[in-house]
Amino acid sequence: MLHIKIFGIVQGVGFRPFVAKLSAACDIKGTVANKGPYVEIFAVGEKKNLAQFLHDLRHKAPERANITKIDAHETTDRAFDAFSIIESEKERGDVLVSPDIAICEQCRAELFDPRDRRYLHPFINCTQCGPRLTITEAVPYDRCRTSMGDFPMCEKCAAEYRDFFGRRYDAQPVCCNECGPEVYIVGKEICGNAAITYARKIIAQGGTVAVKGIGGFHLACDATNEAAVVRLRKLKRRPVKPFAVMLRDMLIAKRECEFGSAQEKILDSPQKPILLLPRKKNSAVAESVARENPKLGIMLPYAPLQLLLFAMPDGEKVFDALVMTSGNPSGAPIAKDDEEVAALLPLCDAILSHNRRIRIRADDSVTDFVFDKAYMIRRSRGYAPLPVEFADDFKGEVLAFGGELKNSFCLAKNDLFYLSPYIGDMTDIRSLDALGDSVKLMQSLLEITPRVAACDPHPAYHTTNMAKSSGLPLFFVHHHHAHILSCMAENGEKNPVIGVAFDGTGYGDDGAIWGGEIMIADFAGFRRIGAVDVFLHAGGDKAARECWRSAVSLIFALGLTDEEIFSVAASLNLAAHAETKAQLFLLRRKLNTVPSTSAGRLFDAVSAILGIRRASTFEGEAAMYLEYAALNAKNDGSLPPPMKIIDNGKIFTLSTLDLFRRLLRRKLDGDDTAALARDFHVSLADGIALACEKARAATGLNTVALSGGVFQNTLLTTLTTQKLREKNFAVLLHSLVPPNDGGIALGQAAAAMYALKGNKIC
Ligand code: ZN
Ligand code: ZN
Ligand code: FE
Repeated sequence: MLHIKIFGIVQGVGFRPFVAKLSAACDIKGTVANKGPYVEIFAVGEKKNLAQFLHDLRHKAPERANITKIDAHETTDRAFDAFSIIESEKERGDVLVSPDIAICEQCRAELFDPRDRRYLHPFINCTQCGPRLTITEAVPYDRCRTSMGDFPMCEKCAAEYRDFFGRRYDAQPVCCNECGPEVYIVGKEICGNAAITYARKIIAQGGTVAVKGIGGFHLACDATNEAAVVRLRKLKRRPVKPFAVMLRDMLIAKRECEFGSAQEKILDSPQKPILLLPRKKNSAVAESVARENPKLGIMLPYAPLQLLLFAMPDGEKVFDALVMTSGNPSGAPIAKDDEEVAALLPLCDAILSHNRRIRIRADDSVTDFVFDKAYMIRRSRGYAPLPVEFADDFKGEVLAFGGELKNSFCLAKNDLFYLSPYIGDMTDIRSLDALGDSVKLMQSLLEITPRVAACDPHPAYHTTNMAKSSGLPLFFVHHHHAHILSCMAENGEKNPVIGVAFDGTGYGDDGAIWGGEIMIADFAGFRRIGAVDVFLHAGGDKAARECWRSAVSLIFALGLTDEEIFSVAASLNLAAHAETKAQLFLLRRKLNTVPSTSAGRLFDAVSAILGIRRASTFEGEAAMYLEYAALNAKNDGSLPPPMKIIDNGKIFTLSTLDLFRRLLRRKLDGDDTAALARDFHVSLADGIALACEKARAATGLNTVALSGGVFQNTLLTTLTTQKLREKNFAVLLHSLVPPNDGGIALGQAAAAMYALKGNKIC
């Protein structure tokens, strides 16, 4: 007899029915039980059958099960008449809560089958699909401890729930038209399918509807209707930042975007993220959805309600592409209930809500695509709270608060690191509240009682203050070290690496603002060995949006006279005379200035001098359009002069000021903007690779980790990786953990866990 324990995400994904069916196929007798942290199986059968059974357990498991470990050993035989699923008490341990799962094919077929008793039921689900994390309020994962506790099952649903071999055995959110939640229009006496038709009419007429989804509300309008999109932009006061688009099905996705089978797999995965894809020339989606943008962020419907929004058989006008943007008042987290969504009333014409409560917010995940793999920009619905497994005999429990922008936090227990859904920018009090609530809830769901709080050393970060007020011993992890560690942890790398952290800003340990750093890093610490040229940066936080300020700061750093700077600024239309004058005043007197090596600000400044963006309306806009300009350049094979790497005895510097000077000169000479944008990317990639060679010569290390918000730029990431691989480096890239600040909580948690192991924290 075999005693088998299966660890990982094995709850809420139909794992026990799968085991029961498999036992029949392999002629195995015994039992399967859910123990909370693992599924326990006793299996009796012929040796050959047992081997097959074990093999299939791992290789034929339900798509959403995530097996981290299978323990199997021989034990004394017991007699079983059959194979059965038994209930048994739960043990305390690593409880893996499943992420939310997009509607499966079978449920979708039933949804549109008039003979099915769940015909057009907006909450149809099964053991393979449906909401999980967002409706769970406590573990073990049982209906009464989810939002579905409000809806007692009808007779028929209860029978399916108990049917061992059915599609809905033990599916906690199972419900039907009889017993399930109900949709309605807020403030109107319209409910059920009539509410969906009402919403469809408004959208077809060019209006906007707030629609309650799985992890929060969306604002939805017809994405092919230019006027409707422009109106939503005005109301949401979001002039440029691209909107995500939900497309009716894969056929429409192929009409709109260019992609291959690897991307198709991501689009159609159970996570159904927003995927950034090259937009086709004849795309029907309105230009205003993503103006001057070669890419479109698209996703497929993942909730039955969204499918009905597209295809309710009510004879209304058909649309096949919807803007689906997070329903949040600017700065606030995504609205999750009728009270919060009320703030969106001025932005929409109706609110399509329902009475299944959302416990934990989860925005749509957003991912790009690099070297045939997902490259995460925002890790949330569908992925959270799937843990990153990073095994190094870690023992202990840690809470890492993450960064200030794009915050997500991380709860870690032993070798498992659970990144939370995306919380948002902590500069807004409502997001801070949401962070506090989510931390509490996730701690109880995952049964983690942290002993240590890890955070950024930046004294002005709200997350730092929150860590301080947690009452736990604090563990500070340098911002850029955390970036590199998150990349290492995601890749399972434990040995020291050459870390390249190119980022917006982070608190340096020398009073400067860092963001273009090269370091030797491991989980014990880091040593900064290189950086881009330092420059005096004036204008404080404002300058992150007003890129022309960074440009003037960098022009000033070139050592020009005031007269020359005025003349350059005027001929580039960079800033009005008075603006330049004010900026120079600060720089000459060192007022509101700080030495900076921020690569993010360098990108902003280059974008500004090339006339691409002199200001950003959202974080990263200037750099994003600089990348797009570079993508438009004709690659004539000519190479820019190599970057100089200067060794000043302490660290070596990438001569980015020389690069900036050259670009400035060529722009003033009237050179092609796209060619210069490409030159900038190629030169920087080249410079990074040269710097890594210096680091290798000095240390013997051959592995490079690329992290930091600047590496969201897939052109830079691709060029840099290619250069490094040409020089025989092993390159660690992010994939399912974002390179931006959404990923640093993982690095913080791993560093704290390492310190706990070495008893460096008591
Ligand atoms: Zn299903
Ligand atoms: Zn029912
Ligand atoms: Fe950062």
